[in-house]
Amino acid sequence: MKLHGSMTVENNTLSIGGVSCLDLAQKYSTPLYVFDEELIRNNCREYVNYFKVNENKNKVAYAGKAFLPIYMCKLINEENLCLDVVSGGELYTAYKAGFPMENILFHGNNKTIDEIKLGIDLGVGRFVVDNFYELDLIEKICIENNKTQKIYFRITPGIEAHTHDYIKTGQIDSKFGFTLTNGELYDAIKKILNYKNIKLVGLHAHIGSQIFDIEPFLDEVDIMLNLVKEIKEKYNVDLTEIDLGGGIGVYYSKNDKPKTIKDFCEAIISKADETCKKLNIELPTLIIEPGRSIIANAGSTLYTVGSIKDIKDIRTYVSVDGGMTDNIRPSLYQAKYECSVVNKIGNNKGNNVTIAGKCCESGDILIGDIDIMKIESGDILITTSTGAYGYSMSSNYNKIPKAAVVSVINGEEKLICKRQSYEDLLLLEMQ
Ligand SMILES: *Cc1c(COP(=O)(O)O)cnc(C)c1O
Repeated sequence: MKLHGSMTVENNTLSIGGVSCLDLAQKYSTPLYVFDEELIRNNCREYVNYFKVNENKNKVAYAGKAFLPIYMCKLINEENLCLDVVSGGELYTAYKAGFPMENILFHGNNKTIDEIKLGIDLGVGRFVVDNFYELDLIEKICIENNKTQKIYFRITPGIEAHTHDYIKTGQIDSKFGFTLTNGELYDAIKKILNYKNIKLVGLHAHIGSQIFDIEPFLDEVDIMLNLVKEIKEKYNVDLTEIDLGGGIGVYYSKNDKPKTIKDFCEAIISKADETCKKLNIELPTLIIEPGRSIIANAGSTLYTVGSIKDIKDIRTYVSVDGGMTDNIRPSLYQAKYECSVVNKIGNNKGNNVTIAGKCCESGDILIGDIDIMKIESGDILITTSTGAYGYSMSSNYNKIPKAAVVSVINGEEKLICKRQSYEDLLLLEMQ
């Protein structure tokens, strides 16, 4: 198991942020999400530094859907990042956390009327407009409320990249955005020329997730900057902000070979410089929207091992007290994770087991076939890199309460989200 951030091992026992995982499990019970605050902050600072936030006035917008408790909104603001939200609920969380509304980008392919009203009312910095329906609604609601709204258009640039699978051939079959190749984007721009309460200031695209190659992002830069020039020439509209989306790949398990934040940022920045010079246009403000590359490696999950079922010559199932309710990614898209027993780090391996969750689904498997040290009932097991899309995708399936979340730094822990109680589970139910 790879150690991330501030993880250290002493006497075979794992600590994060100077706090023993065994102590955390004992104090807060399991399952428990543990976040390494120093690593989150370091990742933010690398993005701010290498993406030239201060030097070039570029922006790094954290994609809140990866993990967005109030704690995270505050931290992101302290580190001078902007924030992506994709729903009224995320927007409301940011609002309650005191996040500056000007630094919010509001995404989503089907924002409801109420969500649009809330966004305009709270004064979010940019709406990332996905379609004609939304465009008309924003104009209408702005007129009714005597407001103006800055927007980007989300486009489908014809690049789609997922992990190692990189398709460049005009991928237009997407529920997101204005399609580039069929002229939809130009229709939208023509339309907006007559809209008084909307100001188009930029373009946005998001080309995929868990992308290891830098190449697709460079192609994206090229396409976007060519559009900036073309749109200026054709429609005399100045686009001063180019948002390249997120999707930068991270390490989950040993087959993942991610590049560094520095590699990605530097390549994008220099490609943009070069392309602007070639096109003879001014360098726009660049925006990048990392989610998992800020938070994935900073989060881990602690479980207590329960039943161990050894089916001779077939498989050994090691069951833990969580599963698809706290981490649905393995069942949803065969995501791979690493794990270990927190007080047996470094013990000899040689045991092949499958780590199973406690839900009533055969598919509730956290890690299939892993070579690991001997595990016994009562052991505290850790899965690493669960910080992104773990808690944010968690559910109450089987009426399992949501796990608690703590953050650790410099030898101290802080409770961020309480564990749900059985009473909490019934809060919405009429007696
Ligand atoms: C999901 C998403 C992101 C973040 O993706 P990561 O893979 O977590 O970096 C950024 N922007 C948009 C529009 C997204 O939908």
